[in-house]
Amino acid sequence: AIPREPPKIHRLDESVVNRIAAGEVIQRPVSAIKELVENSLDAGSTSINVVVKDGGLKLIQVSDDGHGIRYEDLPILCERHTTSKLSAFEDLQSIKSMGFRGEALASMTYVGHVTVTTITKGQLHGYRASYRDGVMEHEPKACAAVKGTQIMIENLFYNMIARRKTLQSSADDYPKVVDMLSRFAVHHTSVSFSCRKHGAARADVHSVPVSSRIDAIRSVYGVSVACNLMTIEASDDDPSSSVFQMDGFISNANYFAKKITMTMIRKKLLSYTKELSIRFDMDADRLVDCGALKRAIEIVYAATLPKASKPFIYMSIVLPPEHVDVNIHPTKREVSLLNQEVIIEKIQSAVESKLRNSNEARTFQEQV
Ligand code: ADP
Ligand code: MG
Repeated sequence: AIPREPPKIHRLDESVVNRIAAGEVIQRPVSAIKELVENSLDAGSTSINVVVKDGGLKLIQVSDDGHGIRYEDLPILCERHTTSKLSAFEDLQSIKSMGFRGEALASMTYVGHVTVTTITKGQLHGYRASYRDGVMEHEPKACAAVKGTQIMIENLFYNMIARRKTLQSSADDYPKVVDMLSRFAVHHTSVSFSCRKHGAARADVHSVPVSSRIDAIRSVYGVSVACNLMTIEASDDDPSSSVFQMDGFISNANYFAKKITMTMIRKKLLSYTKELSIRFDMDADRLVDCGALKRAIEIVYAATLPKASKPFIYMSIVLPPEHVDVNIHPTKREVSLLNQEVIIEKIQSAVESKLRNSNEARTFQEQV
């Protein structure tokens, strides 16, 4: 065979590099909304409202009442690696905010059209600016604004034909968005959240600030979910095995056996909650996935309550910040924990004994 010439290596255009990276950070409309809501939480908001059109492909709009963005920061707001949250690498260890990489807004401008409206405290009017490919398109325009920031993304993935086609041909992201905001609402009890489809009169998530977690669950998922939950706790404080504190709510044996009477919205929501819903909260109250923990709990339910094998779970896990590596995944959805196996085992056995005890109590009651 004739040896082939080695292909020439060249440097990719920065715009190509940025668009590829953006496609990883923003995988689908729901991931863009997650980043925007986390930014609103980082900005100290007490009210966050989301509007979605066409599953987020046409329009995503997130409005908050947080601290806003300074006028002089607007030109670099959507450049890659611009952030107000991190300066030195060491800060990552103790970071309290959910964001830190300054990549989310930039990414959105590489795969969609971004418009930001914001006002800071003490200003008479706000400013509006729009962005493409990391760059502010024109001088910020003065405009009326109430408080905080509104970020709008139009035509997400307009320049990624394959991604857009795949997303258009499957069920849209709206149910995922509703599910995610419900979880945020259950966790951030002092923030009010709403989520609606563009043009809809009614919101599909509508939470008000409440004083306890169970009140939040009741207001988001309905009475029939809240009344079938048991509290759960587990902890360890032995540095040689693991250090954590977990508390939360898990569903009991009646959770699905019971006839469910709810309003339409609640019924719709309930079908989403059939998914096991686990939340981790660490120092920064991050919403992340832990596949291993999820599976461990599913196994316990399948063994003890075979009929209720799709349980409702809310768990808040607090860990020393230095035991968590948040920087292992571009979307920050997965994190790695020190001594994860030990933690999972402890939680698994707490769930198991809770379910067994409640089962025994029930059998005993039925016999009496
Ligand atoms: P990160 O959150 O990692 O810092 P982002 O690209 O998500 O990066 O946001 C860049 C910066 O823009 C943030 O550090 C913050 O200062 C500012 N910002 C973004 N969204 C908001 C918001 N809703 N309210 C106030 N500031 C915001
Ligand atoms: Mg962010």
